[in-house]
Amino acid sequence: MAENGFKCAHRPCKCTVPSEGEFCGDHCSKAAGSQAPETLCGCGHPACGTSPQARPEEQSDG
Ligand SMILES: [Zn+2]
Ligand SMILES: [Zn+2]
Repeated sequence: MAENGFKCAHRPCKCTVPSEGEFCGDHCSKAAGSQAPETLCGCGHPACGTSPQARPEEQSDG
């Protein structure tokens, strides 16, 4: 399988993006623009295995 994508422009991020220099999300876009670089990406995507914010309850009675 050939990798059909580019790595997120955010250094510590492991996500894949469709275009070179793009960000996987708003988190990386801001993090990369910030003066203080992140050691661990916190975009919350599975590729990074991190969560930007913990949700106390994630249930919906739908
Ligand atoms: Zn990431
Ligand atoms: Zn990213």
